[in-house]
Amino acid sequence: MEIFKSIKWKIAIMFALCIIAVLSVVCAVHVVTAIYDEKQSFENTINGVFDEQFTAELASIAETVDYTVDSADGSNMTISTVNTDNSKKLYDAVWAHSGELGINSSRFMCVMDESATPVYCTSEDIIENGTEKTASLIAALNGNVGMSTSLLQKYMDFALSIGSTKTIIYVKDTGDRLYGNLRRILMLYLYCLIGAVIFSMFAGLYLASSVTVPIKKLNDWAKQLAEGDLKAKTQIAGSDELSQLANSLVHMAHNLDKKNTEAKNEKTKLETILQSMTDGLLAFNTKGELIHYNNEAKILLGRNYLDDISFDKFFKEINANITIGDLLYMKHEEGIERSVTLDKERFVVMNFQTFELDGKIGGIVVVLHDTTKQEKLEQSRRAFVADVSHELRTPITTIKSYAETLIDSADAGREFLIRFLGVIASEADRMARLISDLLTLSALDDKHVEYKIPEEIDVRVLLERVTDRMQMGASKKDQTLTYRPINDVPIIMGDPDALERVVINIIGNAVKYTQAGGEIDVYSSKVYNDICIKVVDNGIGIPEENLPNIFDRFYRVDKARSRDTGGTGLGLAIAKQTIETSFGGKIKITSEAGKGTEVSITIPVPSSEK
Ligand code: ADP
Repeated sequence: MEIFKSIKWKIAIMFALCIIAVLSVVCAVHVVTAIYDEKQSFENTINGVFDEQFTAELASIAETVDYTVDSADGSNMTISTVNTDNSKKLYDAVWAHSGELGINSSRFMCVMDESATPVYCTSEDIIENGTEKTASLIAALNGNVGMSTSLLQKYMDFALSIGSTKTIIYVKDTGDRLYGNLRRILMLYLYCLIGAVIFSMFAGLYLASSVTVPIKKLNDWAKQLAEGDLKAKTQIAGSDELSQLANSLVHMAHNLDKKNTEAKNEKTKLETILQSMTDGLLAFNTKGELIHYNNEAKILLGRNYLDDISFDKFFKEINANITIGDLLYMKHEEGIERSVTLDKERFVVMNFQTFELDGKIGGIVVVLHDTTKQEKLEQSRRAFVADVSHELRTPITTIKSYAETLIDSADAGREFLIRFLGVIASEADRMARLISDLLTLSALDDKHVEYKIPEEIDVRVLLERVTDRMQMGASKKDQTLTYRPINDVPIIMGDPDALERVVINIIGNAVKYTQAGGEIDVYSSKVYNDICIKVVDNGIGIPEENLPNIFDRFYRVDKARSRDTGGTGLGLAIAKQTIETSFGGKIKITSEAGKGTEVSITIPVPSSEK
């Protein structure tokens, strides 16, 4: 049964068994000693009573004795005693020692004839029914003395054949009294045993509880520890082995908890470092299973889920041309580097390095470095150099061909000369503008704009002046150029020439890309903490697909048209750089092809000037 498997019951049962064993041994010793003593006492009594003297006395009683009496006539007369009852005399003689012999209901004494038939006996029953022929009786029948006191038999007897008459004195103890007494003793032991078992069970259970209750406590507590609650506490009173064990375990759990916390902190630290890395990181075990990664790796690889990737399959998929065998079976002190292009637009350099665990290769760490920016910069640098070369080559080619034509036509008329030299001069101007724009851009790029002491700029005055100056160009195309200040704008500090160049470029674009008779409105306002300048035209507009690149260098929607209007394709790029770098502001273009364009500049007002 389940309940008896518990230590508590085992201890209680063992306790009870011990008591049963002790009582049984005591009982057995008691019984054996009692039997032995009884047998010993029988022997001693018999030997004491039937000593030589008494035996001789008995023999003389048993012998037939003829004796003479004086007859009346004076002659001797012999009277035979053959008929005298010698058996009765013997009986009486032995009976005289009945007290010593301990004759009672279970011990009788008989005088028997030579055939062992009881003649006189202390037990009526024996006279009536006789008695069995024991070994002692048989010895007496043969004329000897027989005594039997074996421990293995219940009865004890003594038989003595007397003299020539072969009369037998027989003393027998049936053992009934002894065994009756023993039965009572055994019953007493049995009751004691039952009582002792019941008592020992309770005492055992109580004693066992003093061991099992703390063990149960320890067990419950150990379960809590096993479930990971290392902060769980237990207390076992006393100073026995169990409470010492509990204290040692508490100490162990405390140390474990400390180590655990340290390991957790270490892990969190490492995790934080890994997660805050700007490079992606993947770690694989030697089987090629992913065991760790950081968030940046997911971003770089453009995947929400990485857990299912395996080394060879994954790096084959992204054409990294590397297998786990390349790393595990070859020595690469510096690691292996691979560059891949993901989704045709992300450039990633991967560095593969093995790491050691217990003196063996434990896995592979892959560091992913995003080189998209550098790659794009490199691409745009190459494109920029190509664009600059192209832009410079166009006017130079024009100048060269016009100059050669002039050389070849030495006798050309003045009008011809003026036209050709005019073209050469305007192309030279274009080149000069281009070079000046490039220099401005380069200065803005390197943030090496010539430092000028910031001056107060009254945006409204600046816009009025610029619109006035540009009225002529607009009116040439029958356009109306109007400045509409919406509210007061605060004075800001900065380089007024730079801001003026930007505004001129934007209004100039509006004039350039608005058909004759169009309208151009310039607004200024203060919105929240920003100064807002807007140039709105109802010109040709910019198709939506061109808007994302409109601030790129040399980007022009319609190259031929822009070039015809003398544009370099650098105006908006310079405007954006100037507003962002010199004024900390933003520039935005919204436009719709055929409807018009709106360019907004927002410049934050420093709190002191609000
Ligand atoms: P550009 O010197 O060619 O004018 P910009 O950088 O100033 O160079 O402008 C880039 C391109 O943006 C122009 O070529 C033109 O196609 C387009 N653009 C700029 N402003 C306007 C505008 N107000 N209306 C229509 N297109 C414009």
